[in-house]
Amino acid sequence: MESSAPLTLFNSLTRRAEPFVPVHAGEARVYTCGPTVYNYPHIGNMRAYVFADVLGRTLSFKGYALTHVINITDVGHLTGDADDGEDKMERMAAAQKQSIWDIAEHYKQAYWADVRALNIRQPAQWTVATDYVEQMIKFAKGIADKHCYELDSGLYFDVSTVADYGRLARAQTEDGEGRIEAVEGKRNAADFAIWRKTPPGETRQMEWDSPWGKGAPGWHLECSVMSGAVLGFPFDIHTGGIDHREIHHPNEIAQNQAHCCTTKEDGGLDDAANSGAKVWMHNNFLVERSGKMSKSSGEFLRLQLLIDKGYHPLAYRLLCLQAHYRSELEFSWEGLGAALTRLKRLVMAVEQLKAGIPAGEGAVPTPGRTFAPYLERFDAAVSDDLNTSVALTVMEEVAALKKVDPAEKLATLDAMDAVMGLGIATLSRADLRIRPKSAIITEAEIEATLAARKEARAAKDFARSDALRDELVAKGVEVMDGDPLGWEWKLEP
Ligand code: AMP
Ligand code: ZN
Repeated sequence: MESSAPLTLFNSLTRRAEPFVPVHAGEARVYTCGPTVYNYPHIGNMRAYVFADVLGRTLSFKGYALTHVINITDVGHLTGDADDGEDKMERMAAAQKQSIWDIAEHYKQAYWADVRALNIRQPAQWTVATDYVEQMIKFAKGIADKHCYELDSGLYFDVSTVADYGRLARAQTEDGEGRIEAVEGKRNAADFAIWRKTPPGETRQMEWDSPWGKGAPGWHLECSVMSGAVLGFPFDIHTGGIDHREIHHPNEIAQNQAHCCTTKEDGGLDDAANSGAKVWMHNNFLVERSGKMSKSSGEFLRLQLLIDKGYHPLAYRLLCLQAHYRSELEFSWEGLGAALTRLKRLVMAVEQLKAGIPAGEGAVPTPGRTFAPYLERFDAAVSDDLNTSVALTVMEEVAALKKVDPAEKLATLDAMDAVMGLGIATLSRADLRIRPKSAIITEAEIEATLAARKEARAAKDFARSDALRDELVAKGVEVMDGDPLGWEWKLEP
């Protein structure tokens, strides 16, 4: 459809919503900081990719030719921010007694499975950090003379050599939030390693020769190099979780400034060309009641856990869309259940529409006049810094409309779902009924017992009807007589 509302996006650099003005007319080039593949992603991590996906889908909806790149970090991400931690990949490989390459492959596949399950579109390119090491060395060589110094442990970036270091984090003082403990010999507390030397006498599983000795690239260097190599500086939008606004992205920006030959006199960060990307966007965290989500704490909130408990993964996507990406979102099982109910309603509305449309060869239906005001409101919502929670309610209003042309209504919902990515055109009621792993009864048994119960009730044999119901309850089945969605039973997770 022709969309008309101007797109505004909140830029973390300026802390303001700004009209989107592409660097290259008609195009949108987006880089998303991807996962470090040393462990399974938790659902909080996946919120970051649902957000980036909605951004990409919105840009496509607005008519921009999108080039989206997501990286896979398979080297260089340390356990702490202070350059003295271990490489997360090396540590996991040692703990699991496997090669780093096997660890990376396993967790990359697990991440990709979650990406598919959440209807996150495939980006134009996945960039894998270890494929870019030669380019990282070249980039580092290019900025080393003016901006870096060598210590025994590696090549360090001197943050005082670029203008406005830390402006993205809003923490420019030595005592500010962004202060990083010093490795001995660092000139400034916030200086960071762009090349980490392998300590003498040690061999790392992943190490490369460089002008600064054998070693591995720093994590921040990786993203600067991959984003610039594939998208070209400056590109349009760089995304990541809100934690990246404090250290990782300010450090990327510092390197990009150095690479683009920007000195203090050169206009600092106000010139988009100097920070690599014009717009930096950050999603807020998914939290759970017990605090920040952690891969090491208790029941690990992976997407698979949600599925094991009987929740369709797209219910989690809908849960994310209910909140604005810049708001913190609290996870609860009740909230997920409510999101599943909203998804069921949409899917049932589409199923009913499909059933009412005669199969034919006619022209592909378009939304038509009746739906124009809804599409306008939907467009206005997503164009307003991706206000998906409002967009979702507009979609539900359309789903609830009565006495309208079913083919046009379906076309309208399809157009909206191109942005929301809930897959309502292809999902069926049956898909949404996922058997919890712990279930001790099959669907066929449940249906058979319910049929017997119906017969007993018809024969006014209420004692038998109650007994059959109790039998189901004992096996974890909630019988939902009179459910407005016609959902007759539910398996308790
Ligand atoms: P990592 O694999 O640790 O580099 O994280 C992958 C992405 O998830 C990054 O963009 C993080 O900022 C983001 N992230 C981490 N934890 C959360 C969370 N609880 N909620 C939302 N995003 C998160
Ligand atoms: Zn990154």
